[in-house]
Amino acid sequence: MSPADLIRAVERAGGSIRYRPPDGLAVELPREAMAELAPVLREYKKQVIEFLSRPPDGPCPAGHAAYWWRLAEDDPWHCGRCESDPRAAQWAGATLADLAGRPLVLAAPPGFPAIREWVRTPLGWGSVLAYSGGGGELFLRLFDPQPGQRPLQWVPTAQAVSEAAAEPMASDSAAQPRRRPIP
Ligand SMILES: [Zn+2]
Repeated sequence: MSPADLIRAVERAGGSIRYRPPDGLAVELPREAMAELAPVLREYKKQVIEFLSRPPDGPCPAGHAAYWWRLAEDDPWHCGRCESDPRAAQWAGATLADLAGRPLVLAAPPGFPAIREWVRTPLGWGSVLAYSGGGGELFLRLFDPQPGQRPLQWVPTAQAVSEAAAEPMASDSAAQPRRRPIP
């Protein structure tokens, strides 16, 4: 039985299954289905965790070869076309080309600038919208894009300095006036 088959079996039985980092599963099932499925879930626990903790390869059930997003490590992956993310207002103007096919995580890895925090990057100041799957890159909205520069961009996380840590420097060409974009 593949992890996807097992997850579908849980859902058909009226239950749900979620990944609980680092190595747990939260399973809700009606009692009679639990008796039937618990041994299978135990047997395939490792495969199910692996399946739930990475973005799906290939299209969603509706056939979209779209991007995947989730709110946190223990959130299931959602197809960006079937379910728009709840922070869609911040994403106005984002295209699949901007997203570049990377899986998105809409929560900051521990110790990283929070979502919506202002960061200084080599491209300019912006606010953090999301992280790539491994946290190596962040997706940001530039406050003051240059002519021809896309307002939504990926930058390596290592090149972003959070507002709290950034010292304004007159000689720093990346420093730009801090101003909030007009909503
Ligand atoms: Zn879809």
